[in-house]
Amino acid sequence: MPERILVIEDEKKIADIVKTYLDRDGFDVTIAGTGTNAMQLLKNGFDIIILDLMLPDIDGETICSAIKEFSDVPIIMLTAKSSEDERVRGLGIGADDYVIKPFSPKELVARVKAHIRRTKRSERKTLSFNGGILKIEVLSMEVRKSNKILPLTSTEFKILLCLAEKPGVVFSRLQLINAVQGYDFEGYDRVIDAHIKNIRRKIEDNPQKPMFIKTVYGTGYKFIGIVDK
Ligand code: CA
Repeated sequence: MPERILVIEDEKKIADIVKTYLDRDGFDVTIAGTGTNAMQLLKNGFDIIILDLMLPDIDGETICSAIKEFSDVPIIMLTAKSSEDERVRGLGIGADDYVIKPFSPKELVARVKAHIRRTKRSERKTLSFNGGILKIEVLSMEVRKSNKILPLTSTEFKILLCLAEKPGVVFSRLQLINAVQGYDFEGYDRVIDAHIKNIRRKIEDNPQKPMFIKTVYGTGYKFIGIVDK
């Protein structure tokens, strides 16, 4: 079954270009030209939503908030607004990504694919490491050490999952903050270090000699747990 994408965009030319590119990659694309039309179509269920911020009737922010109240479908916002404030505001109301007009249709398709990959990855239920000592339950966001549930905060969980999904890959602090927050801010490197310290305190036998999260000096962190087959 092809993934279903709803494109909410009143400029017909842009909507058609986006549809052409997504069709070419085998997606099932529906276009809504107004916010009202979009709200009616939403009940059909979509795998991803591309949402223009400036619509003639209901503004994109309102639609985004409304969708996020009943669904966690990924939303990519399209907008001419490009200031940092607007970007952060968009992400703050639940958009998962932001593409600034004018944009390259190829880049938009690449982002769509990245979000679909991410959704599919998180459908995989349990990640297990070191002979079942550390288990990460993706859907329920539970982490177990030797079958005992560890009290990780949601940010700690996201950081751990980001690292554990790609064992051996070094993540910079900037990549980690972007993965969990969707944007960076001043002082994020210290924030990441503080989170890593807390995660280690919870998941490691000896935080000084970590079995799971290793510091890569001058670069960042990597996950060194051994994946169970
Ligand atoms: Ca528009």
